[in-house]
Amino acid sequence: MSLASKTIKELRGLLDGGEIQPMEIVDSVIAAAEARDEKIGGYLSWDRDQACRACETPIRGLLGGIPIAIKDLINVKDQPCGCGSKILRNYVAPYDATSIVNLRRAGGHPFGRANMDEFAMGSSNENSSIKPVHNPWDLERISGGSSGGSAAVVASDQAIAALGSDTGGSVRQPAAFCGCVGLKPTYGRVSRFGLTAYASSLDQIGPLTKTVEDAAILLGAISGGDANDSTCLDEPVPDYAAGLTGEIKGMKLGLPEEYFGEGIDPAIREAVQKAAKHYESLGVEIVDVSLPYTEHAVGVYYIIATAEASANLARFDGVRYGYRAPDAKDLAEQYAKSRAQGFGPEVKRRILLGTYVLSSGYYDAYYLRAQKLRTLIRDDFTKAFAKVDAILAPVSPTPPYKIGEKVANPLDVYLADIFTTSANLAGICGLSLPCGFMTPGDGDHELPIGLQLLGAPFAEEKILRLGHHYEQSTEWHQRRPVI
Ligand code: GLN
Repeated sequence: MSLASKTIKELRGLLDGGEIQPMEIVDSVIAAAEARDEKIGGYLSWDRDQACRACETPIRGLLGGIPIAIKDLINVKDQPCGCGSKILRNYVAPYDATSIVNLRRAGGHPFGRANMDEFAMGSSNENSSIKPVHNPWDLERISGGSSGGSAAVVASDQAIAALGSDTGGSVRQPAAFCGCVGLKPTYGRVSRFGLTAYASSLDQIGPLTKTVEDAAILLGAISGGDANDSTCLDEPVPDYAAGLTGEIKGMKLGLPEEYFGEGIDPAIREAVQKAAKHYESLGVEIVDVSLPYTEHAVGVYYIIATAEASANLARFDGVRYGYRAPDAKDLAEQYAKSRAQGFGPEVKRRILLGTYVLSSGYYDAYYLRAQKLRTLIRDDFTKAFAKVDAILAPVSPTPPYKIGEKVANPLDVYLADIFTTSANLAGICGLSLPCGFMTPGDGDHELPIGLQLLGAPFAEEKILRLGHHYEQSTEWHQRRPVI
């Protein structure tokens, strides 16, 4: 087994025992990427020299000597930060995001830029302006998105672990599609400083890993208050990894009826229901809960997310950042042309939608109503968490589809975000982990299925513990794609 295929936990053991040196891990990751990534497309770039320098510092901390792949919208000093977009193709970050400062403080180092949907807008990674990401289990299929590169490099053993970002499911859904673990922390758990903003009231950075334990380790490393992000709370950071082995007997898991109705693939429904049975066998009580406003989540999300995006992306106008159209005759034309040539079609669609819902005359009908519904969606969860410790749900209603299959139908793609967007609207935490496999058609490859554990704000310890017990008593996480 190569070093690249190991977990953070395993590698820390080998490093502590003096059996390996940090640079051997980097070289193993590079060898794996050179052998496999041409087919997958998970990395946009990496820099061996920078990694070499990072490996010269003494090994210390939870992540000492561990390289972590970074989604291409998190700023790492002196590395490209193109956000999967042509408009920022040559942009090099002048500073480290707080999550990266924390990662380095814990001894880890950022390695490689992970491919993504342009500005994190998408669910398939087909919106990357550079190249799509192929699912390691079936190269003809999507990896999921928008953190598709992060999920695919972890799942195909080309990275030890990765950071992604989740605005409406972008860590959890690609983790489910690629068969790895993905965690969206509570809004305010991890600083957003240095994360290129998509929708500021929804964005959170989260880990993608091979095991729940690694997600706990990485979350512990990147979490904590930050004077540079006023929405990041100064809550104490528990030792998430130490909390994993605690008792789960007697805990209550809610099954929301709205998540198992029409539109969900039967194989996915069955796998998640089986997981509920498995939890019962571990002594967890399964309780029916209701989240009645679920049906509004996608609509509300696509109004709020695009409204915020239209404001956040206004800064990309050819003046200060990135691409500038060469042939403009005045400033207005420079803005228009730089944006027209620099942004891809999905980003333009969303800027138009977001500008529309914020425009006078439509603001009350769309944006304001969406904000009111957002409160009702959050109230649904508050009521549910008064009864249960966590909620068990699917991640995606359907398996990963073939690349190109849905380009003509963006609405279909949006609707598939039904089980992930509520968590961002409510600001709660969510963990995605493997719970089975399915074969969608004759002659198709096996594809992983993910389950989702949703927790109350700052209840990461609970969902990680529940996830860890499930994982350790099943074998899904041990399977690897053959590439
Ligand atoms: N699929 C959702 C979207 O396209 C979520 C993306 C994300 O979480 N960044 O907006």
